[in-house]
Amino acid sequence: MATGGGEDQTGVEDWALPSEVEVLESIYLDELQVLKGKSRSVPWEISITLHPATAEDQDSQYVCFTLVLSVPLQYPNEIPKIAIQNPRGLSDEQIQKISQTLQCIAEAQLGTPVLYELIEKGKEILTDNNIPHGQCVICLYGFQENEAFTKTPCYHYFHSRCLASYTEHMEKEISIQKKERIQHLTAVPKEDIEVQCPVCREPLVYDLATLQAAPLPQQSMVWKIGRGTFCTESLLSKRWNKQESSSLNHLSYIKSFRKSHTSE
Ligand SMILES: [Zn+2]
Ligand SMILES: [Zn+2]
Repeated sequence: MATGGGEDQTGVEDWALPSEVEVLESIYLDELQVLKGKSRSVPWEISITLHPATAEDQDSQYVCFTLVLSVPLQYPNEIPKIAIQNPRGLSDEQIQKISQTLQCIAEAQLGTPVLYELIEKGKEILTDNNIPHGQCVICLYGFQENEAFTKTPCYHYFHSRCLASYTEHMEKEISIQKKERIQHLTAVPKEDIEVQCPVCREPLVYDLATLQAAPLPQQSMVWKIGRGTFCTESLLSKRWNKQESSSLNHLSYIKSFRKSHTSE
């Protein structure tokens, strides 16, 4: 049992942390990072990046965070320090709530091993909140439960149909631009021939047919009007065609998209 190095007055034999961590390592394997203190008086730091339980389907994981537990000398008679790092898709409010919930669990279980429970609770909360925080920058509406939205590799979120409409438009713009440039024998910069994320301009990876097949967003007025008359997209494309400038500015698309439907 004695692991050497930690000759504290509490006695190495009652130190349950190493065996608790061993169990965690056998459950979480490489996902679990353990920074062991050089002596027993140095807190161990255990960290694990948590995702919602979505049967390993990473494309439908919209939120995550890294749970960092600093385990003090007197654990389990003293609670671990809980930190939430690198949160994605979560609001400040949600992060605070997760932190409070985990803190309560740790306090309620004072005196007994609690690390496994904290990790599992973190996962459970993410599974229940697997909807990105914020709004779709294309239609400016928030994400509702059961709505079809898409996560880009750059971790930005859009309603799938909004993104379909955007990429479709951008593809047309790009091909027009390409033809014009070829006619004028000007070189086309690389960034002008790929569809980019409307938020950060990273190149987008997408499957247009899948995006187009997604259900319409529920709340968005843009799509409500579209649903009523069923001509949103053709209306929009008429509007786009009217614009003389064939600038590839993605923001001009978004502006016209919003302007055309939010004034009513
Ligand atoms: Zn949208
Ligand atoms: Zn992005």
